[in-house]
Amino acid sequence: MPSLPFHKLLIANRGEIAVRIARACRELDITSVAVYSEADRDALHVRACDEAYFIGPSSAKESYLRGDVIIEVARQAACDAIHPGFGFLAENAGFARAVIEAGLTWVGPSPEAITIMGSKIEAKKIAQRVGVPVVPGYFGEDQSPDKLAVEAGKIGYPVLIKASAGGGGKGMRVVERPEDLREGVAAAQREALAAFGDASVMLEKYLNEPRHIEVQVLGDAQGHVIHLGERECSIQRRHQKVMEESPSPILTPEMRERLTRSAVSLAKAAGYSNAGTVEFIYQDGEFYFLEMNTRLQVEHTVTEEALDVDLVEAQLRIAAGETLWIEQDEIEFVGHAIEVRLYAEDPERGFLPSTGKITALSLPFDDPDVRIDAGVSQGDLITPFYDPMIAKIITSGETRSEALRHMREVLGGLQVEGVRTNLDFLRWLVSHAQVDMGNLSTGFIDKYYRPGAFLFAPVPVTVAGAAVLLLSEDYGEPAAPPLSVWSANAWRLALQGLSGDFLIEGHTYNVSLSRTGDDPVMWQTKVQQGENVLLDAQICLKLRPQPEGAATFDRVPSVVQVELPDAPLYSLEYGWGADDRVSITWDRREYLVQSAPPLSTERMNTNVHLSDDNSLESPMPGKVLKVLVASGDSVEEEQPLVIIEAMKMEFTVRAPHSGTVAAVKYKEGDQVAVGDILVELNKPASQ
Ligand code: ADP
Ligand code: ADP
Ligand code: MG
Repeated sequence: MPSLPFHKLLIANRGEIAVRIARACRELDITSVAVYSEADRDALHVRACDEAYFIGPSSAKESYLRGDVIIEVARQAACDAIHPGFGFLAENAGFARAVIEAGLTWVGPSPEAITIMGSKIEAKKIAQRVGVPVVPGYFGEDQSPDKLAVEAGKIGYPVLIKASAGGGGKGMRVVERPEDLREGVAAAQREALAAFGDASVMLEKYLNEPRHIEVQVLGDAQGHVIHLGERECSIQRRHQKVMEESPSPILTPEMRERLTRSAVSLAKAAGYSNAGTVEFIYQDGEFYFLEMNTRLQVEHTVTEEALDVDLVEAQLRIAAGETLWIEQDEIEFVGHAIEVRLYAEDPERGFLPSTGKITALSLPFDDPDVRIDAGVSQGDLITPFYDPMIAKIITSGETRSEALRHMREVLGGLQVEGVRTNLDFLRWLVSHAQVDMGNLSTGFIDKYYRPGAFLFAPVPVTVAGAAVLLLSEDYGEPAAPPLSVWSANAWRLALQGLSGDFLIEGHTYNVSLSRTGDDPVMWQTKVQQGENVLLDAQICLKLRPQPEGAATFDRVPSVVQVELPDAPLYSLEYGWGADDRVSITWDRREYLVQSAPPLSTERMNTNVHLSDDNSLESPMPGKVLKVLVASGDSVEEEQPLVIIEAMKMEFTVRAPHSGTVAAVKYKEGDQVAVGDILVELNKPASQ
């Protein structure tokens, strides 16, 4: 490889991508320069670079988004080039232009290509011109609510409102019913204006269960464009990816050919150079162009691993003016790679970001078969200012199942303490049978995941606990000796079928038992957690209370005997605890089981946390974007009260009931922490 014409590179970013680019610099013998904000004085990316310069307060607006300050630093530090990473200024054409005008090399596509492709509307027009299918929708100039309502009606509900300049799922709203369109449009426009400085929105037909498949492209300044295969990123929460892989488990060679050819023709039509990604959604054998990201992608790692290429190095060589050094037919998958994103966030509360100090973090840096791209290290803080990603974990293998198996092992051994993370969620995800089979869709999490779904109590425990509770429930006094399944009452009940919801260590299971035939110990047993069916089988089940007056010495305790298909006969000790709870011992561990109200699926969607009925807490750390009510106002149930913004989302806190506003505790622009009381309500006198 010819040596690059630059020796010193400024990385206008932070976190794992800055660390990743710094590694490329080390390998290429380029001096790396970091910039950092107040909150990032001790950040990992500062330590990863050879030099670092302070650029301002913690808020990204005053630091990582200050293009002028960053260019000035590059000048003073005598850098020859700037790499923007992703996020922040990466897709800002004005910044790219200013970098070039300052005489520095811009590691990215031309400002013109960024501008065209930065507008989802313009990009769709190009796609249509070169014959690439797009999702049916409205991409017009007229942004009046009336026009949008008419167009939405033509498209048919549900429709998706998108910010034309959007990214990261921001400014995106699914609207199910015509009556909700106006509020959705107003919110999307507000979010778009605040985040991207451009309020234009577009409408698209909302596909119900698509897959997200994207194509990595590389172009040079001489007009050559090649693709580096596809990535599938269908596992998403809030339209944001959490697991990605390459290649896609669903594409046939013919489909891959069509998809990649479309991506290349689009990139060529846009005069694209450097690394970029053409995103599609795929449903029922058809794919539709979504948008082009004119930058390195978070999940570029899986392409690197599956093809054995280095995309950051490629970006630098292209920026240096090199003509593409590889031909399309030299590009070949060498294996399969999977990435999961470990985030500081709380899957139990709608995947909201969490903050705090990482007191323990063990990542397998020594395992040669795992790639870790981390943005933080033990002792670091996750602050509310930036993306809460902790690390990307990438495993690979000759086959998909090998990569997935390896991922399960790696996640099983990870440890993170101090902040809430999605680690248990990721473990659940990579162990899911549908993931194993490659049955992915962007609706996967909505469809299969329920809070706590990843923490299955062992099935014998659930069955045993439910059996004790179900068979005793109708008899009042739980302290009374539990009944045997042979009792007349139990028999009568069982004929009707028994079922209930049970709480085990904070997680709810539904268990139903019904008699199947004459054999009094055989039960058709179904155990479910949300929509996950954990067991549905005919099993042998016996309740064996300890015999009265049994000798204390050598005694056999009260047990539930459970005989599952293909398993030994288990005898689980049980006993009654306080508050009608039953303890079940399994594998030398005691589990408490109690009857529970049915699991509310709303729990994860609920957007307001109540310390009591009238005090509305902030569900996440962030900034108060809008206060929609004042003290003394009367409000209806569900009425929006306050809008909070944090990281990449906007959050509406609504009234849980009608009443009057007793107090509004914050004003627009204020910073709030999780649990801060935002609004206090009084119930109307009549209630
Ligand atoms: P991508 O589009 O690269 O797959 P996402 O869709 O998750 O990534 O993220 C969308 C937006 O958020 C992009 O603008 C991306 O650059 C930014 N972003 C995501 N993760 C990070 C991160 N860890 N640090 C900085 N920016 C990020
Ligand atoms: P962003 O700029 O936020 O990345 P995209 O247009 O790339 O926006 O869409 C992000 C995600 O939103 C997609 O990966 C997909 O999950 C979902 N999405 C986008 N458009 C549609 C659609 N028309 N129907 C269903 N889901 C969609
Ligand atoms: Mg996208």
